[in-house]
Amino acid sequence: KLPTIFVITPTYARLVQKAELTRLSQTFLHVPQLHWIVVEDSPHKTPLVTELLGKSKLNYTHLHMPTAKDRKLQEGDPSWLKPRGVEQRNEGLRWLRVDRRAQPGGDNQQGVVYFADDDNTYSLQIFEEMRSTQRVSVWPVGLVGGMKYERPVVEGGKVVRFHTGWRPSRPFPMDMAGFAVSLKLVLANPEACFDGEAPMGFLESSFLQGLVTMDELEPKADNCSKVLVWHTRTEKPKMKREEALQAQGLGSDPAVEV
Ligand code: UDP
Ligand code: MN
Repeated sequence: KLPTIFVITPTYARLVQKAELTRLSQTFLHVPQLHWIVVEDSPHKTPLVTELLGKSKLNYTHLHMPTAKDRKLQEGDPSWLKPRGVEQRNEGLRWLRVDRRAQPGGDNQQGVVYFADDDNTYSLQIFEEMRSTQRVSVWPVGLVGGMKYERPVVEGGKVVRFHTGWRPSRPFPMDMAGFAVSLKLVLANPEACFDGEAPMGFLESSFLQGLVTMDELEPKADNCSKVLVWHTRTEKPKMKREEALQAQGLGSDPAVEV
């Protein structure tokens, strides 16, 4: 039987949320043996996400965990100021370690854990690459870090350094979308989690440091020569006309879910 891929996705309410989750869920429908762990950055589960998941035909677990107020990015803050999705990814890890284990079949440790932000673009191939992860597998990420791509550099089948535009001396200078971890390793290291206080660019390292060393990384995507996932970002839609119409009482019907 194929190892299950547990995909942990932090998500938060905004105008493009339904569009992002629709695109993502329809990608995942093409991936066999995938379990989607959706963690809302919210004090409660929202109807929009609840209904979208219910209709999705996916295997999923719906969780929520609000970002602490002092950790949350404020309107107007530059996006690099604070890491995003931290408490949500940690909540997904907690579910795997505690709640899932208490369920029937929860002793099955065969599986792979991947952190998939809701706005990235995923090729179906990347899921088949990561499915054979023994400890931690790695691959290039496109359109990230002010570069065409970032990637681990592979020599003789081993990762020897990283191609990145910024602080290559970081323990693991990789984007969240560029690695997957075996469920077994996640369960064997119950303390490993994302540190929201880690300095900028060290979030991925804060999780991976306790789990592997560079020479143990398993390069995928043809020795890290292929880009199969892209750190795309969605433009914030302009609401100028909406607001102008609203002022005249002619705004879009709030009963229509977007
Ligand atoms: N996110 C969240 N709460 C927030 C901001 C972001 O849960 O307040 C989620 C978001 O939906 C995404 C992930 O965290 O799945 C990373 O956020 P984003 O894509 O904005 O980060 P970036 O692309 O700038 O790294
Ligand atoms: Mn993003």
